[in-house]
Amino acid sequence: MIVDGSIRYANRAALTLMDADALDAVAGRPVADFVHPLDLHRVEARIRYAAEESGSNPPTEFRVFTCNGVQRVLAMTSNHAVFEGRNAVLAAFVDMTERAAMDARLQETDRNFQRIMNTMQDVFYRTDAQGVTRYVCPAVKNVLGYSADEIIGLPAAAFYPDISERERLVQAIREHGFVHDFPGRMRRADGSIIDISISTHALFDERGQFAGVEGIWRDITQRKAMERELERMATRDDLTGLPNRRSILGTLEQAIERRGGRRDAAPLCVLMLDLDLFKRVNDAYGHLAGDAALQHVTEIMQQLSRDGDVLGRLGGEEFLLIVDGAGLQATLDIAERIRSAVECNPPPRLPAGGLTVSIGVAQWSPLDRHARALLDRVDRAMYTAKHAGRNRVREALESVADGESESGGA
Ligand code: GH3
Ligand code: MG
Ligand code: MG
Repeated sequence: MIVDGSIRYANRAALTLMDADALDAVAGRPVADFVHPLDLHRVEARIRYAAEESGSNPPTEFRVFTCNGVQRVLAMTSNHAVFEGRNAVLAAFVDMTERAAMDARLQETDRNFQRIMNTMQDVFYRTDAQGVTRYVCPAVKNVLGYSADEIIGLPAAAFYPDISERERLVQAIREHGFVHDFPGRMRRADGSIIDISISTHALFDERGQFAGVEGIWRDITQRKAMERELERMATRDDLTGLPNRRSILGTLEQAIERRGGRRDAAPLCVLMLDLDLFKRVNDAYGHLAGDAALQHVTEIMQQLSRDGDVLGRLGGEEFLLIVDGAGLQATLDIAERIRSAVECNPPPRLPAGGLTVSIGVAQWSPLDRHARALLDRVDRAMYTAKHAGRNRVREALESVADGESESGGA
């Protein structure tokens, strides 16, 4: 009970709150003795309002110092009252100290969160259950070219170049609850596509219902480009751009494995091509002209091979063409067309017929379990063509007759 700005009466709970041993410790003392100076004007205004204008004040929070000098945060409601015939104020208090501390901690946490969000380079985001973006950190501007404000409120799917990629992501999150380094792509404001890596988990509400997702994604375009370049360097030949030896032999091995030794498997043939007397070309026209000749012949071979055929450079002036799905006769025709075209279309600076090629042709047999047996045969066929005078096509002898099958001697 407050009269004329001073405390007249306090109940036991109020005394405990103020660390007062007895009523004497507070009775008769002005409210200003206890209220924090920065909150005092607000508290006094409310007391005046309740006392003089019979007002009723909604709860307000303010700081007090107890009789022991401890600071507390109280919430006060106050109403007009009459005490011993005079205008008075009846005030009730709740101790809010703990909640105020929690609020301060929450604010601190919030400030830390904002600081992290403002400085991080990766993109933190949160969507609701419908996939609508509810939060995204400012870094998104650098990565996508849109500001956070432009994105919040839009479906996350709007930024995927392929909607099915987002569906796969959501499916994985719903299944496992999270994803780690999940690959994806996004479309930037300028229309370009970037590679991203997503780490995200599902959010659930108090009733356990799916409430959206929250996580981080990172622009890995540069890393992807580097991986692709490394992959290219590891599998391509620099001069001609063709698959290198390791790559073309791997392709052949896979084609054979796919057939699994089945007699009814689709036919498979290979051409081994070796330029004739190429050392002389180098000697006569120089190594650079030799390089250009290799590129020139590569173009001819590519033009005359069919879609799906794979041409590779085994090394030096030696090439392998895998003709998948064609029989021996069709492959011999391709070989003859290449031989003739190389002869009739010399590289720049070389006379007609200045460059020719010898070609061996072999057909895969179900007894060839690995590429080696087939390669041995086609290599011998190519040397047969050389010995027969070069600039010609020779087919390999039947595999079974050679007794070199890899069927395990059965
Ligand atoms: P043959 O008809 O018996 O095959 O004769 P050849 O001279 O082609 O045979 P050989 O294999 O002895 O020589 C191949 C030559 O190819 C040796 C090398 O100088 C040349 N060569 C290999 N790789 C390259 C290349 O990348 N650039 C150039 N310019 N020449 C190359
Ligand atoms: Mg040669
Ligand atoms: Mg050679």
